[in-house]
Amino acid sequence: MKFFLTVFLTLMSVVFLNSCNEEEVETIQEIDMELEDYVKKFFSAARKHGAEQRIDRSYTIKFGDIDGIRAAVANRSKGTIIVNSRYKSYPRTLEYIIMHECGHFFLELDHGEGLIMQEVIEVSNITAYFDNQASYISEMFEIADR
Ligand SMILES: [Zn+2]
Repeated sequence: MKFFLTVFLTLMSVVFLNSCNEEEVETIQEIDMELEDYVKKFFSAARKHGAEQRIDRSYTIKFGDIDGIRAAVANRSKGTIIVNSRYKSYPRTLEYIIMHECGHFFLELDHGEGLIMQEVIEVSNITAYFDNQASYISEMFEIADR
């Protein structure tokens, strides 16, 4: 009986300590300098659409080596968006990738939810985005609010 009680109390203190720590977790907001302009564009759209609370969280947005043809990986639980380094010298593609990944990461959109959330990026998608930027971006926030 004593054994069980000890375990119970230990578990209680662990739970208590964990929840205490959670309150004090610091917010980490880091963006690679080369990606900053694109993320800021998304953030200003978020403010314009009254979605400030969605961007008020921890995130690390940076380049990284990703195997294969994937353009980027957004991981909400890790708080990271990693963009494939091979796209470093393609500013238009980078902006498109950032908008798409921010759709996953901040707005919780899935593939197929909106014009910019197509799973495969083709050159024609990027051209269409730059021809209709405002409506592509607005659509993301409209879908996220549904
Ligand atoms: Zn995607």
